Amino acid sequence: MIQVLINKDKFKYDIHSLVKAFYPKEDVSVLTFDELSSKGDNENILFKIEIILEEEAGKISMKIIHSDGVCKEAETVCDIASNGVSGNEESAEVSSESSTNGSTASLSTPKNSLKQMMYRELSHEIGHELPWGSLTGIRPTRIPMQMLESGKNEAEIRKYMQETFFVSDEKTDLAYNIALREKKILDDINYENGYSIYLGIPFCPTTCLYCSFTSFPIVTWKKKVSDYISCLEKEIDYVAETFQGKVVNSVYIGGGTPTTLEPDEMTRLITYLREKLDLSECREFTVESGRPDSITREKLRAMKECGVDRISVNPQTMSDETLKRIGRKHTVEQFINAYNMAREEGFDNINMDIILGLPGETEADVEHTMQEIIKLNPDDLTVHSLSVKRGSRLAEHIRNNGFFVAGDTGRMMEIAKKGAAKMGLTPYYLYRQKNISGNLENTGYAREGKAGIYNILMMEEVQSIVALGAGTVTKRVYGDGRIERCDNVKDVTLYMNNIDDMIERKKSLFT
Ligand code: SF4
Repeated sequence: MIQVLINKDKFKYDIHSLVKAFYPKEDVSVLTFDELSSKGDNENILFKIEIILEEEAGKISMKIIHSDGVCKEAETVCDIASNGVSGNEESAEVSSESSTNGSTASLSTPKNSLKQMMYRELSHEIGHELPWGSLTGIRPTRIPMQMLESGKNEAEIRKYMQETFFVSDEKTDLAYNIALREKKILDDINYENGYSIYLGIPFCPTTCLYCSFTSFPIVTWKKKVSDYISCLEKEIDYVAETFQGKVVNSVYIGGGTPTTLEPDEMTRLITYLREKLDLSECREFTVESGRPDSITREKLRAMKECGVDRISVNPQTMSDETLKRIGRKHTVEQFINAYNMAREEGFDNINMDIILGLPGETEADVEHTMQEIIKLNPDDLTVHSLSVKRGSRLAEHIRNNGFFVAGDTGRMMEIAKKGAAKMGLTPYYLYRQKNISGNLENTGYAREGKAGIYNILMMEEVQSIVALGAGTVTKRVYGDGRIERCDNVKDVTLYMNNIDDMIERKKSLFT
């Protein structure tokens, strides 16, 4: 265990994220000095870090104290005037990380100064750098994006990314090039007067080992699906009334696995949505058809007839052994059949998701997965690094069996990147997650003209996303960039029994 003690709890979350990035396998506990007496545990501590923030004096000092008593001290100065930063919100962190207008001449914010100092000390301590440097936010592309929008040039952006956050050349390239592509796509969309819709279908054929999404087995819920759709329709009615005069820029039906719906259920839902909302400027209609074991020709036809123009068919890996290990309950052959069927039914924008760092997988497995995917030639490939979510069966499995990543996720990422390039796909969006394998990122690659527009609108937070269904989160984006959220309960029965309350929550958010 690594214990971090701090005199103010303002930056607890940032400190935890950064220390955890350096020590992914260790438990990290961040406590205030006051909390130490009540919650602190002095047993089995690898080392302690003590941080004193003296914001009024513009000073931060830090001590690393090893269990053998060896102590290292450092101190830095910061810009108190830029002190109005909340340390606990990922999105707030992103905007604050980029809030210095790209200037590296002036002092950093207290948070950035603290993270810079910690980064230097920890990278020295552990003997290597992190690919994303001291950046721990989930949207690293927001920084180059905001700087591009404020007129900064490539050299200024690179300098800022590298000098302020110690981001590697490779990740700076990636973030900068993605920001350029996203900007080009966004410049072509009238998103200011629009919004996007997310519909959550929280049912799946079975539960994957690594899942932490809202997902319930369809067999148990089969008879309630019609009632669930009625609740979605109620939410759609609310949206139609509230967003009159606004256009929908993109629709994303996700989950769960939306293709657990029968063809008539899917048709009913999409037809209702189309009748009630203005989709005349809708640039993309995606249905995540993730699990191949939920796809049938009839379902594909129903979606096609309803105007769905982008789907996901996800292998995650092309190894039957791994699929079994992670509880996917489908085979590689089933995946290939489902994909080919979707092509036969005329889908010309198909995404595939793969996950790197799956239990027991090595670089050779990823090489094999990419070779098989290249043969199929999808339009869009999303490469995830496994993220171990608290509460997932995978987290429990790891607790019981130890950490079992067999390969190097960084090298796997390289293999996937080369494979994507071979298919003519370029990166167009990325995000990071907590506890992500190798402290890396998830990257979406796409063929020219096939980039997932919803993904970009959602990731760059340029417009409101109205989310319907159990376990979904609606995000209101204000003109000044401020963001407020409201969520629907995860439990399907509670969601259905309290549908009026779910709608009331949205009403309060949008008034
Ligand atoms: S398909 Fe997705 S949502 Fe369903 S159980 Fe697997 S990971 Fe979870």
